[in-house]
Amino acid sequence: MSNRFEAVLITRDEEKRQSVDFVELSEDELMEGDVTVAVKASTVNYKDGLAITGKAPVVRRFPMIPGVDFAGTVTRSSHPGWKEGAKVILNGWGVGETHYGAYAGRARVSGDWLVPLPPDMSPRDAMTIGTAGYTAMLCVMALERHGISPDRGPVIVTGASGGVGSVAISLLAELGYEVVASTGRLSEEGYLRELGAREIIPREELSGPARPLGKERWAGGIDAVGSHTLANVLSMTCYGGAVAACGLAQGMDLPATVAPLILRGVSLLGIDSVMAPKALRLEAWRRLSLELNREKMSKLSASIPFSDVIKAGEEIVAGRVRGRLVIQM
Ligand code: NDP
Repeated sequence: MSNRFEAVLITRDEEKRQSVDFVELSEDELMEGDVTVAVKASTVNYKDGLAITGKAPVVRRFPMIPGVDFAGTVTRSSHPGWKEGAKVILNGWGVGETHYGAYAGRARVSGDWLVPLPPDMSPRDAMTIGTAGYTAMLCVMALERHGISPDRGPVIVTGASGGVGSVAISLLAELGYEVVASTGRLSEEGYLRELGAREIIPREELSGPARPLGKERWAGGIDAVGSHTLANVLSMTCYGGAVAACGLAQGMDLPATVAPLILRGVSLLGIDSVMAPKALRLEAWRRLSLELNREKMSKLSASIPFSDVIKAGEEIVAGRVRGRLVIQM
């Protein structure tokens, strides 16, 4: 078998101008690692869009193969945990940022970064969920650890039509929560209701400056947006509630007061999927395989060929992608 494969490569010139191209590489050109994987499927996350467009400093080493997650089959391993033929998933760990990533026929990584593909999932299923969906599950688990249950009241999901938002709505609805979805795309109301949202609110309701304390509207929240939106979500969270914050689609700032935290005992739970410990990853993927409605998931995903990945990265940053994009390698 030829060990040459196609890859997307981000390079920078002396003036730090970025370009992104399809290139052909060989396995010898991959970075260090004790497991080599034939990438079967990947996906386009918001972060991948930022890397491809160069709109934020996601890539911290040039040249770089972008792509923060993949599912595939081990072709070579000197790691005690993995044998040739094992089916695996990778999310994060700096892959696509500091270590050559998913947008290539082959990836070489540390075996410690991999988790097994759940037996009832195909690589495509796993990448329909992707890092966005796995992060949504980490958010749900964080809310649960904080004691947020369906009987406590509604849960709001911001950035609802995006990847994290869509999977979060579906998961929460499946678990019996009443879901409030905040979106800038009211034309997606039908889609969001089909995923399980009970109430849809326009993004503008939450995107301006927040009052220290607003009317108590939800017991919990999953926020993919940050900035004023997160400040508003916090200010409208009921006494003793919690908000899992994972994203920054509106901005990285947090123009909030401590009022909800110190007067209502509201908790702000930070979620990071990139360096999350293995036990948490295994639990998240176990639960995703059991609790996520696959039929709904297939409706919220679209398959794209590898050749469209650069264009898709630009689209997601422009906010024109609904749900999840899966790349079949
Ligand atoms: P998507 O682009 O798929 O979704 C983001 C959604 O946010 C959009 O679909 C849109 O939803 C909404 N949005 C976009 N721009 C704005 C804006 N200016 N103001 C308010 N809302 C906006 O991205 P993902 O779902 O893949 O990721 C969501 C966020 O989570 C990103 O910031 C990403 O970086 C972060 N993330 C963090 C992870 C972590 O480990 N902490 C892991 C994965 C993602 P709508 O049209 O419905 O309003």
